[in-house]
Amino acid sequence: MKKKQNFGPKMSDQKKSGNSRGNNRVSNFDPSRRNSKKEEFAKVNGGVFVYSKPLSVAELSKAINVPSTEIIKYLFLQGKAVTINQMLDDDTIGELCLQFGYDFKKEQNVDAAHFEELKIEDDPSLLKERPAVVTIMGHVDHGKTTLIDAIRSSHIVDTEAGGISQEIGAYQKEIHGKKITFIDTPGHAAFTAMRARGASVTDIVILVVAADDGVMPQTIEAIDHAKAAGVPIIVAINKIDVPGANPHKVLEGLMAHDVIAEEYGGDVMCVQISAKKGIGIDDLLDMVLLKAEMLELKANPARYAIGTVLEAELDKGVGPKATLLVQNGTLNMGDYVVVGETYGKVRRMTNEFGTIMKTAGPSAPVSVIGLADVPSAGDRFMAFPEERQAKEIAEKRQLEKTAQQRAGTAALTLNDLNNLITSGKIQDINVIVKADTDGTAEALKANLEKMSTDTIKVHVLLASAGAISDSDILLASASHAIIFGFNVRPDARVRAMAEENKVEIHLHKIIYELLDEMEAALKGMAITEKVESVTGEAEIRHLWKMVHVGTIAGAYVRSGVIKSKEKVRLIRDGVVIYDGVLGSLKRFKDDASEVKQGYECGFTISGYNDIKEGDVVEAYEMVEKKD
Ligand code: GDP
Repeated sequence: MKKKQNFGPKMSDQKKSGNSRGNNRVSNFDPSRRNSKKEEFAKVNGGVFVYSKPLSVAELSKAINVPSTEIIKYLFLQGKAVTINQMLDDDTIGELCLQFGYDFKKEQNVDAAHFEELKIEDDPSLLKERPAVVTIMGHVDHGKTTLIDAIRSSHIVDTEAGGISQEIGAYQKEIHGKKITFIDTPGHAAFTAMRARGASVTDIVILVVAADDGVMPQTIEAIDHAKAAGVPIIVAINKIDVPGANPHKVLEGLMAHDVIAEEYGGDVMCVQISAKKGIGIDDLLDMVLLKAEMLELKANPARYAIGTVLEAELDKGVGPKATLLVQNGTLNMGDYVVVGETYGKVRRMTNEFGTIMKTAGPSAPVSVIGLADVPSAGDRFMAFPEERQAKEIAEKRQLEKTAQQRAGTAALTLNDLNNLITSGKIQDINVIVKADTDGTAEALKANLEKMSTDTIKVHVLLASAGAISDSDILLASASHAIIFGFNVRPDARVRAMAEENKVEIHLHKIIYELLDEMEAALKGMAITEKVESVTGEAEIRHLWKMVHVGTIAGAYVRSGVIKSKEKVRLIRDGVVIYDGVLGSLKRFKDDASEVKQGYECGFTISGYNDIKEGDVVEAYEMVEKKD
């Protein structure tokens, strides 16, 4: 296509531009961002005009370097009178592009507020090799923790010596000039909890199998979980130093589960190690590097960071502290990070040795301070250059989350657990543990997960120190989880939020009572089934709207009795519109605790105002079922 010389694209623009991030992109994430913090939504790339949102005449003029008077003149001659700020439709943009010598293309712009769904397609020329992210799994006591420690303490370079403090639950090792990222939380429970939340962080699973014990139930589970996630396995046959260790038995055992070692003609790398004695660790690391090379793991360090929260806690001194794994892009000190429904500025960023980092590239785990709230493990995060963007996106996410919850399903209750289990409707029980200390949280987590049976799995999605927060309620609601609090109490706001989202919070001060409660619920013991019993019905006849109070309904009690603060359902045309609690109840001007059949009354419904004339309010209570 011939270009009009005087209106041609500027070379400097052209160089920086390009459809470099594929079609599914967020407009703020230009790899050239270090040159310009300005939002770009239209540009010229090699004679093709690429844009992603409706443009005004002025914006188009600037982007294609054609004076707006020319555009207005051309459109005028076509019989269209436009002003400089008028928005142009796609057809007109296309027509103008062709007229002024450009081909054109509209890119679909994924809403940055839904960055979890973002499929990033970086320009291959911008991709750089990135370290593999490795998780260690295996049966209990097969040596996962010992292996993690052995890897941690191997290949320590001088500069790090003495600094092997386990500041964060992930670390990088440099072997033959290449890095590997290890995630400390061993086991498939954490891995799956992440996956359940839509986060996949692991590239390679090291499956630890003790040579003196062979393939055990959790070995099989780990295999299943790794396979379900499509993550390749490297087998570390551990404890080869133990007399009577039988590596071949392990390999045969694995074969029964479709994990076929290379020496048996399969494609699974296996290595014999002793985590305790430090035997074979280097071979294992070499294998990880080899596998990583085969996987051709790549990322684009030039974009803003996107990644996943590995762990988070409320630090008494510095506030919310999170370990983030950068999965693509580079996280910089000072970036604004949206995570969950909150955002914050990266005020301090450190690696596993507590060393301050100014930037963290793909596959780097970093501890970050500056978030507004404690996120949940598995939350995705995205970095933005400007506070305004981060704030807007976080607010949008919060609104959407609230809307979803309004419409959403109820979270799990301990009471209906046994029914769901026996009817086979539930195999996974999600639990969130908040405790006063990390140690207690971990202990509770371990003990709760031990209650898992062959058919029922107790997944502790989050076990951490700190008060029960908004984000805990959100997590519980999103993943149908029950919250256990140990020596912590939610404040009134969080309590209200839990009630609204129908999230159950169980508070305890004695560990065994907490565990007993869960055990009983699992076994269906001491759980009396409760059923609903309708106690009254009132018909809405008038409405008043009052500032600070909301909608007051004037109603006639058709049957039974209506009491203040009791559970009510709002029914419109036979459909339950809202399920909540009655607010204040009045008979004429006086407060009333109850109003009986045949009388008029006025009331509000707590936290709900969308009441209409003709609606019916049904009061009900939960009573123990009598056989
Ligand atoms: P985990 O439950 O999988 O994390 O297992 P641990 O790492 O806690 O190990 C369980 C036990 O096995 C500990 O007593 C370790 O010292 C021991 N152990 C781990 N690796 C080896 C090994 O290579 N050789 C021997 N002899 N013992 C080991």
